[in-house]
Amino acid sequence: MKTLVTGGAGFLGSHICERLLEQGHEVICLDNFFTGNKQNVAHLKDYANFELFRHDVIDPFKVEVDRIYNMACPASPVHYQYNPIKTVKTSVMGAINCLGLAKRVGARILQASTSEVYGDPEIHPQTESYRGNVNPIGTRACYDEGKRCAETLFFDYHRENQVDVRVVRIFNTYGPRMAPDDGRVVSNFIVQALKGEDLTIYGDGSQTRSFCFVDDLVEAILRTMEQDETVGPINIGNPVEFTIRELAEQVLKQVGSSSKLVEMPLPSDDPTQRKPDISLAKKVLGWEPKVQLAEGLERAIPYFRDAISR
Ligand code: NAD
Ligand code: UDP
Repeated sequence: MKTLVTGGAGFLGSHICERLLEQGHEVICLDNFFTGNKQNVAHLKDYANFELFRHDVIDPFKVEVDRIYNMACPASPVHYQYNPIKTVKTSVMGAINCLGLAKRVGARILQASTSEVYGDPEIHPQTESYRGNVNPIGTRACYDEGKRCAETLFFDYHRENQVDVRVVRIFNTYGPRMAPDDGRVVSNFIVQALKGEDLTIYGDGSQTRSFCFVDDLVEAILRTMEQDETVGPINIGNPVEFTIRELAEQVLKQVGSSSKLVEMPLPSDDPTQRKPDISLAKKVLGWEPKVQLAEGLERAIPYFRDAISR
């Protein structure tokens, strides 16, 4: 199978490229290197069936492929708020360009959507049928509404043009190849603990998230692409919920650090709780996460230790 991975030099995209190459597929990786980097895919150059292109998804592109994984978009609040208009363009124009390509060449296409479509959820845990509580004019809206509009486009191309789509809603995922300066909570806390710096808790740390290890996430994405039971959306994440303070304490324990926890202002519209209902993924994909937080941190910490010493 010939596959295009947009955002393929990013954290999740690079793991998807790697898994597909291991399975013997041809992989075209397309990235503008905004938050991703060549280092994430440098080890894949040894595969004869791997190609890397610098390209921005807001501009059209043509390749003959059977599968498209549309992963291109900054995922960290720090990075997607850096240039919010560009973030909307990446989500919306990127989706239009990818869907147009899928329509022309008859490819199946998967969209990396997000738990952010639920905004600050009033339903807990979040099921796919929940329509969300997003502030359309807030600082997170460029990402949340961009991703919501991308989902709309996926379902309209599916209804109007019979494009073969799959949509996954990804919950907070961490692991090796996250950029140390990514700005999301797991990478921030591990890097701060390793450097002996204070761990920055935004607000009082009582807000919750559910953290999925990258290997579990990638397995679910690949399974979603190759199943025929549903186009989605399917929630993918680890349903075990932690407060941010609990995460900080766990990181300190596992790094063996005596760093302090300091409270910083809570960013606007920061969701108070997040936990996926993964019943649909269990049923359709026969999948559930295998790696729990302590093991996932154990596997991520050496990567960050190495990354910050380079
Ligand atoms: P990431 O920032 O590491 O990767 C995103 C990649 O997309 C980077 O390589 C970046 O350079 C590239 N990119 C950004 N804008 C682009 C553009 N205009 N044209 C081409 N390439 C572009 O983030 P990630 O965690 O790997 O996220 C990958 C996808 O999964 C994103 O679409 C994100 O919204 C989604 N997602 C991730 C999470 C998570 O917890 N990791 C959660 C929900 C959704
Ligand atoms: N957070 C924090 N300290 C940090 C980074 C993030 O307390 O250094 C909090 C953030 O306010 C949010 C949660 O951790 O409540 C998860 O943030 P992240 O950026 O990982 O992703 P989100 O799930 O909010 O998109």
